[in-house]
Amino acid sequence: MLAWLRRLMCVVPLIATTVVAQDGGPEARPIYNRDQWLPHSVPTSDDGLRIPVPADFNAPKGSFVLLGGRLFDGTGAPARPATIVVQGKSITAILNPGERNWPADAVVYDVTGKTVMPGLIDLHTHLTFVDTGDLTLYTNGNTSGAESVMRGLRRMAIHLQAGVTSVRDVASHGDSPFVLKRLQASGEIQGPRIFTAGQLITGIGGHGALHAMTPNYPEVPNGNLNSMVRIATGPDQWREAVRIQFAKGADLIKLASEYTQEEVTAAVDEAHSLGMPVTVDAETQYIDMAIKAGVDSIEHPLPRSDKAIALMAKRGVASVPTLVTYRIIQRNSGGYFGSTSRRFELNEDTIVAMARKMRQAKVKMGIGLDLIISSPEYMPGAYIDELESFTQIGFTKAEALVAATKTSAEILHMGDRLGTIETGKLADIIVVDGNPDEDFNAFRKVRTAFVNGRLMLQEGRIYTPAHEEVPLPVRK
Ligand SMILES: [Zn+2]
Repeated sequence: MLAWLRRLMCVVPLIATTVVAQDGGPEARPIYNRDQWLPHSVPTSDDGLRIPVPADFNAPKGSFVLLGGRLFDGTGAPARPATIVVQGKSITAILNPGERNWPADAVVYDVTGKTVMPGLIDLHTHLTFVDTGDLTLYTNGNTSGAESVMRGLRRMAIHLQAGVTSVRDVASHGDSPFVLKRLQASGEIQGPRIFTAGQLITGIGGHGALHAMTPNYPEVPNGNLNSMVRIATGPDQWREAVRIQFAKGADLIKLASEYTQEEVTAAVDEAHSLGMPVTVDAETQYIDMAIKAGVDSIEHPLPRSDKAIALMAKRGVASVPTLVTYRIIQRNSGGYFGSTSRRFELNEDTIVAMARKMRQAKVKMGIGLDLIISSPEYMPGAYIDELESFTQIGFTKAEALVAATKTSAEILHMGDRLGTIETGKLADIIVVDGNPDEDFNAFRKVRTAFVNGRLMLQEGRIYTPAHEEVPLPVRK
């Protein structure tokens, strides 16, 4: 297994470099290529941390086989009968029906009549978001780190039951997303792989800023240490806010408008210098500034010009349109209200039209749900709704599933490890009753899920391995 990893490391950069603008304006420093920094003879972990630890740190032991199923491999190829062999955390073989060369001690799962596919990805979660719309909960510190972690744990279980094996957490409370990420990676808790931005970075009065401020005193920033948000003013503070997330273990950086050109350029430059991609929650001219700064992706279906869309396509800036959350907000409250930092109107038609424009311009698009407050309760319907939205804007059903797996893995900068079922990839695999590439409702019947080769969902329920007794010390 180390041999394939070493081989992979020789040919595939750990972190792909960004597309650098060719058409004038300030250009962001590309994301640094870790391949240049590490000797190829030292295999390091390919987990979500992107922090060097030994390659097989905490990898599961043994091997298993998924026999008799229908494989939708996420590459765009049509589903076909195949047998999948996994050893440790990696997919080691895809066999044709009838071929039976797997380790003698492998656990064999009969998945006849079921579809085997890569786990789904949700590129936009807030695992610890408070349960109610009562905004004082953000600002008065009533939500503790412990409560935040417990909310996150429950939402990880909800996501896993819907077939989601990786989430990109684009702002959660204090250190809680890092705690959840560590425990998941070590196999101590069940749930999707977590890639986290740590805190959202915004300006005073910017989007989300109220979550970090002292109530009613917007001029007092960062009053709540367990906040989901960090407020920064001026390029140096934006750089500092990026470094704080990096030091905590962030996999990416999330910025929100409003900011100046100098601030967003500084933050993107700092993040890329440290090897982290940047995503941004912004609208109108703030999107223009973010593209100019070299941001890697843009969240939501917020207003932007046709020129901005064309530039996104040209520079490889991805879109995570998160249509379902806007639909939920608009249906629950009759419109798009309640954000002091966003003064424009949206409706269900405008958000779909914006997403359709991006599809037509060939912008790379991934699946993210942004299920805030109590919206995780809408799973798996929320994920199914987002997939259906993709078919409304021009994707076929199979293409929508590729967006949910392969393309979303690429947006995570994990395209070399996740998102498809191919030899050498990490074993993030789900088994679904029915044909999800023909009917998304099959995601209501996700039977089995493996994350990093670990069984985490069995018969549709979270699987927790039994405690293994350690013998008492012997009297000497
Ligand atoms: Zn969000």
